[in-house]
Parts: sequence; C-alpha cells; structure tokens
Amino acid sequence: MAYVQGMASLFGPDDFLARLHRVRHAALEAGVDGVLVTPGADLRYLTGYDAKALERLTCLVIPTHGDAAIVVPNLEVLAALASPIADLDLPVIGCGEGDDAYARVADLLPKAAVIAVDDHMWASKVLRLKAAMPSVEQLLAGPFIEPIRMRKDAREIAALRSAGAAIDRVHAQVPGLLRAGRTEREIGRDIAELIISEGHVTVDFVIVASGPNGASPHHDLSDRVLQQGDAVVVDIGGTMPDGYCSDCTRMYALGSPGEEYLEKFDILYDAQRQARELARPGVAAGAIDAAAREHLDAHGLGEQFIHRTGHGIGMQTHEEPYIFQGSAFVLEPGMAFSIEPGFYDEGRFGARIEDIVVCTADGIESMNLQPHELVVVE
Ligand code: ZN
Ligand code: ZN
Ligand code: ZN
Repeated sequence: MAYVQGMASLFGPDDFLARLHRVRHAALEAGVDGVLVTPGADLRYLTGYDAKALERLTCLVIPTHGDAAIVVPNLEVLAALASPIADLDLPVIGCGEGDDAYARVADLLPKAAVIAVDDHMWASKVLRLKAAMPSVEQLLAGPFIEPIRMRKDAREIAALRSAGAAIDRVHAQVPGLLRAGRTEREIGRDIAELIISEGHVTVDFVIVASGPNGASPHHDLSDRVLQQGDAVVVDIGGTMPDGYCSDCTRMYALGSPGEEYLEKFDILYDAQRQARELARPGVAAGAIDAAAREHLDAHGLGEQFIHRTGHGIGMQTHEEPYIFQGSAFVLEPGMAFSIEPGFYDEGRFGARIEDIVVCTADGIESMNLQPHELVVVE
C-alpha cells in the first residue's frame, strides 16, 4: 500500500527498515529483550509515523528476537496505515476503547526479562507498562537509540540542509520586519508566518529579544516596543515536512547599538568563527566549546557566556551530541549540531550567533549560510 503524507519524503521503507534493524541490533547488545517506542521523534525516525501523543496508548514493540508490531487505538489505525508504516510489513494491532492496550503490548513480549522504553515516554505509560509486566526490568532506550540517531546519513543531511535553507530565507526577510515602535510579539507573529511560508510545517520557537530582553537566552516574545538603538536577538526554528528541524540565530540592531556593544559583538563574532573553524571529525565536543569560551574569556566576556556552546539537532531541535565544557565526546562524520556562543549582560543587552553544522569526512558543512555580521537596520 502506498502512503500519503502531504508531501514527498526523502525517506522510504528501506530507510526505516535499516533503522529498525540497527536499533534491534543495538538492543540485543545492550541485553534488552524488547524496545517500546511511543509517539515522538524516535517513533517517527524508526517508522515514518508522526503519531499523536495522546492518553491512549500507541506503542511500537520491537522484540530483539521476533518481528516488530505496533499497537494503536482503533480510531488511529487508518492514520497509521496512511503513514510509511503501511510499507514496512509491520502488523498494526488496533485496540478498542474497552481493550487493555498494555496487556496487548505485554502479549507481544511473552518471554522478556528486560525491556527498554523510549526516553520521552509519558510517565503514566511507563508505570502502566510496569503494571502489565511487573517482573520485567525497565531501562531507557536512549543510550542505544541516540547513538544511532546522531549519526546522520546523506539523506538526513540533505533534509537538514533544506531546513537550514528555509530558515535562512526567513532571516533574510527579518530586517524588513524590524522597526522602532513595533512590539516583539508583532514581529514574532510575522516571523512565524514566514517560517511556515518558507517551507516548515510547524513553528517550533520564535525568540525576538530586543534591548535588555536579549540578556535572557530563552526569552521568547513580549509586548516590549522596539526602540532606536536596540540590539535584537532573533533565534528561530521550525520542523520541515520530513520531520527535520531548523534552528538559527542572527543579530540585528535598529541603528547603532553603541560603541561598547559593537566591540563586544566583534568578540562574539570571532568566538563563534573560531569554534566553527575548529569543528571537524576527531575533535572533542569540549574542545569546540573551549574554542568559543576561551576567546570570550580572554576578552572579559566569559562570565556572561552562561550556556553550553551547542546541541545536536535532527528530528528534535535538541538531541545528542551536546557541545559542552569538558565533554570528551569525539565528533564523527554525519553528526549535526549547533555552534551558538553568546553573551548576556543582565539589564542591558545580549547577543548570540548560531549556525547548524554537520561534520563531513574532514571538516564541517554549515546548514546556515546567512552572513554572521550584525545586521544594522537604518
Ligand atoms: Zn536553546
Ligand atoms: Zn540552538
Ligand atoms: Zn537557536
């Protein structure tokens, strides 16, 4: 059966079957008898099914010895069959409102002693699974699924590249939206529309942090009115039809933000560039963090760089590998992550510059190609 999910996908049954195979293999090595995956990025990664996370149980069951199946509420069987699952030769087991879906999952793992549940499974489901299989030990699946998800193949990188290009097109239009007298919220609404019209299917976050609000890294939108001389942090991202995410920060200013700010921005610009220049396979994540942090430190901005340098990205905006101080984790080709140092001066202003990059065989490719300079809107 062919599936219909709005738009043509880069990914087909062979991709999902290969991923399921890899997870089953890794589970076996981890001493796990079955892997249980509820709606979320893991389920979509493994089957292409972008299922709704609701109170009823939807659960992919991957026995390490035996065939995978998915338990879904009866009312979602058609949705499951309209997804790439239809081409995976994977039984879709419908459960009626009166059925015990947890017992159905337990039936699929009759001899299991140890199971692994996906890291984002709701606690209510984890506990009900425990009640259905009281003698079975539960582990987290993340420790063996994340290493698979963080090694992206050429098609996943192509998906991240188109996500990056889409968010770049949004940033290219941001200067036209920034004007003294407009609020962050008004600008944010316009940006959200552009995130969709440039090709994303969801708006994941819109940060427009003007003036002193820029000092809060995860500020989103407020009713603050932009003023002449404001520096504005614009950090935005969305999810593309195939499930891959964008995330990019650029800095803008309404007229001149002042000499001190410009000097500090230049220090940040160099810190971000140095981290990008160091990033490549074989380098520890902690060394990339250090490249940015030491440069900011050397210029008196180290104390104001209050977060890690980056996070992995793929079907989630934040996933492994994380780029943080002291991390000995060594990067490999196919790993995608952000490089986003910043400085945050409480009550005054802040700045951040962020690109998503992917490790190639011997360097990195940036998914974001907009210039890194401060964009001054006159
Ligand atoms: Zn963040
Ligand atoms: Zn980010
Ligand atoms: Zn960001």
